[in-house]
Amino acid sequence: MNRIQKKVIHSGLVMHHLETGTKGPKLVITANIHGDECIGFAVVVSLLERLPSLLKKGEVVLYPSLNPTGLRRMMRTYPEDGQDLNRLFPGDSQGSASQRHVHTIWSSIENYKPDLLFDLHTDSPLSIPYVILDRKISTTVSNTVLEEMEHLARHSGLTIVWEYRTPDYRRYKLEKSLSGTALNRLGIPSLTLEVGPRRFMDRDSITIATEAVLSMMSARGMLNEEYQSSHQPVEGIWYRGNGPVTHHAGVFVASVCAGDRVERNQLLGKVYSSTGVELEEIRSHFPALVLSLPAQCWVRELQSCSTLALEVRPEP
Ligand SMILES: [Zn+2]
Repeated sequence: MNRIQKKVIHSGLVMHHLETGTKGPKLVITANIHGDECIGFAVVVSLLERLPSLLKKGEVVLYPSLNPTGLRRMMRTYPEDGQDLNRLFPGDSQGSASQRHVHTIWSSIENYKPDLLFDLHTDSPLSIPYVILDRKISTTVSNTVLEEMEHLARHSGLTIVWEYRTPDYRRYKLEKSLSGTALNRLGIPSLTLEVGPRRFMDRDSITIATEAVLSMMSARGMLNEEYQSSHQPVEGIWYRGNGPVTHHAGVFVASVCAGDRVERNQLLGKVYSSTGVELEEIRSHFPALVLSLPAQCWVRELQSCSTLALEVRPEP
C-alpha cells in the first residue's frame, strides 16, 4: 500500500502526493479551477481512496481544488477580483490577486517537473463527456507529444476534441489556460476533461471521469491492473468550433440534443420573445457534432447557443 502525503501550499490550496518508489511517469491531476465545477473534486477524492492500492509505478500529485474560495461561493471565477484563473497562466507574483494565485499554482506544478497533466472540468448540464487536446503553438512541442495525447485520449472513453484553430485559440487566451501552458511551456502531454454538469454533483459523471483517468493511467502502465473505461465516445476526431450566435435576447428552444450530428444549415433551435413570438432560427454553419447546449433557457444577444465540434480539421 502506497502512502499519501498531504501538503498545504497556501491558504486552502492543497496537493496530495502519492509515490511508489518505482520509476515511472509523474502525473499531475488538477480540479475545480473553475469554482462552480465540482465533479473533478469528487474524482480526486475517489482517486485518493483507490490509488494507494492501485498505483504500481511512477507518482501522482492531486489538487482537489485550485480555486477553494470560488468553490465555497459556487463561482467560476476567482472571488477576490472576478477573473478567470484558467486564462492567466503562468501567473505573476507581482500582479493582481488572481495572477498571484495562478503564479503559486504554476510554481508548485512546474517545480514538480511532471511528465503528464490532466485538468478536470465540467460543461453545461446538456453536454456529452469529452476530452480536449490543446493546440501546439510552441515549436518546442514535439509531434510525439501530440501523438501521445491522442493515444491517451483514445483510452479515456471520452469523445476526442482538438482545440480551436490558432487565431481563435489565442483570441480566447487558451494558451494561458493550465493545460495550454503545460503543453506549450513544459512540452508535456496535457488533457482537459470536460465531464458532467457544472454546479451539480452528478454520480454518473463522477464515474465516467474517474474511469477516464484510471484508463489513461493504465495505458501508461501506471496501475497494477488493466483498466478500460466502459463509456462509449462518439467515434472520430473532432475539432472545437464556434457555434452560431443569437441576434436577439430571448428563450432558446433547442431542436437538437447534445451528442447529435447535424448537417450544414440544420436547425439547432429557435429564439422566442417572452410573449412567445418567434424572433429567429439558429442554424449550424457547418456539419458538426453538438457537444453542449446552454444551461439556461434565456439567452443573451450575441450568445453562442451551442458548443459544436467540426469533423474537418480547420486551417492551422
Ligand atoms: Zn472549466
